[in-house]
Amino acid sequence: MATSVQTHTDQAFQQCVSPDCGATYDVGEALTSCQQCGGLLDVAYDWNRLPVPDSLKFFEQKWARRNDPLCRSGVWRFHELLPFAPPEKVVTIGEGQTMLQPSDGVAKFVGVNAGNLYLEYEGLNPSGSFKDNGMTAAFTHAHTIGAKRAACASTGNTSASLALYCGVSKLMQAVIFIGSGKISYGKLSQALDYGALTLQISGDFDDAMQRVRQVSEQLGIYLVNSVNPFRLEGQKTIMYRVLESLDWQVPDWIVVPGGNLGNSSAFGKAFMELRELGLIDRIPRLAIINAAGANTMHELYEVRGNRWNDGHIDQQAPEVYYDELDASGRRASTIASAIEINRPVNYQKCLRALDVCDGVVREVTDGQMLDSKAQVGANGLGCEPASAASVAGAKLLRAEGIIAPSDRVVCILTGHQLKDPTATVAYHTTDQEEFNRVLGSRGVKRADFANRAVAVPNDLDEIVRAIQLNS
Ligand SMILES: *Cc1c(COP(=O)(O)O)cnc(C)c1O
Ligand SMILES: [Zn+2]
Repeated sequence: MATSVQTHTDQAFQQCVSPDCGATYDVGEALTSCQQCGGLLDVAYDWNRLPVPDSLKFFEQKWARRNDPLCRSGVWRFHELLPFAPPEKVVTIGEGQTMLQPSDGVAKFVGVNAGNLYLEYEGLNPSGSFKDNGMTAAFTHAHTIGAKRAACASTGNTSASLALYCGVSKLMQAVIFIGSGKISYGKLSQALDYGALTLQISGDFDDAMQRVRQVSEQLGIYLVNSVNPFRLEGQKTIMYRVLESLDWQVPDWIVVPGGNLGNSSAFGKAFMELRELGLIDRIPRLAIINAAGANTMHELYEVRGNRWNDGHIDQQAPEVYYDELDASGRRASTIASAIEINRPVNYQKCLRALDVCDGVVREVTDGQMLDSKAQVGANGLGCEPASAASVAGAKLLRAEGIIAPSDRVVCILTGHQLKDPTATVAYHTTDQEEFNRVLGSRGVKRADFANRAVAVPNDLDEIVRAIQLNS
């Protein structure tokens, strides 16, 4: 029997994801965990008392009102499906105007039929990653409750996004925690350029995450990491846009990189709600792809068999695993810095998403990610290393026969190609020996799709010859 610490008359509230607890909290509170049991919180709605459209087609008519900022935003266009804030409080900078790009070149690489592979290109967001979908929602919540400072720990993209919302709106100061030497220059440059207070902690992301929780609690700073349930509300809209681009047909697979597991958790919630509301009749399967050097979800779900189990999760399993990591001194290590995380904060919700979507988890090496990234670059708009985990994972699942050639597959490209040019240049231009020396220890054995720069003397004949030789 669910116990409730408060009785809610509101149409939106916060609720503990554990069905054994089910404690509810006012939407006006800033909480990052349940005060009864320590579990994660959802934003929940009393849909019966809210105006829910009877068909997803309803959202198409908003395209005609694109000079209204709430219709232009690819997040707030779906306001009816995340109705936790009044429209006049919404802070939007035009996020979520992204696109679903079919790619036959990547389809061939992955091994599915032409016409069946799509790349959801979230790098088109204002700060260059999918994080803006969630940040506009968390930032809006922070604004509605009068926060003056907002903080996050980040591998780079969350901080870039927070810094951007603070810079544009001037509503809050951004306080950013990053691990030392663990952030790509593209992302660090954004935080600095947008004027965020940037604290570089000696340690990695997992250390920075622990500290930012303590500091925000002590100083009363609003926390925007994905333990924040409002962030995930915004990230649900990535799935709405995928469905919209497919004329509201549900694909067979959604493939997404797994770091803190906010995206995968949000996707699961999106589909759970759409089904509950009768707006879809089928749920796609979800594939979450870890880096082999930061593979907690893969280990706990696929190897140790931990499951959602109707909300009765074996709480010990992750604790035992983290103790093992600590005892052996193992730290997350991958070139895909955005998913270089060993203690994913959304673990509990992610198990629910895997349950809802009949999901699977896989791990891919840095070499598989970099080759996949090169294929995305050569066939599409490009992405950062972590994003390519989705394509590498789809290829692996195809090879295993779990994805069929006739399946319709959507890979989420989480971040822009220019976020981490260092990795791209190293892949393409370093000579093979040097490449193996630098990246070999990370499991990168070769650069199959390297497009090396051709060195030519400053001489017209030599230049002409080089072009003829290479074309
Ligand atoms: C944050 C991030 C991820 C990881 O997403 P989670 O929701 O934390 O699992 C993956 N790719 C990029 C580019 C990111 O910025
Ligand atoms: Zn609880």
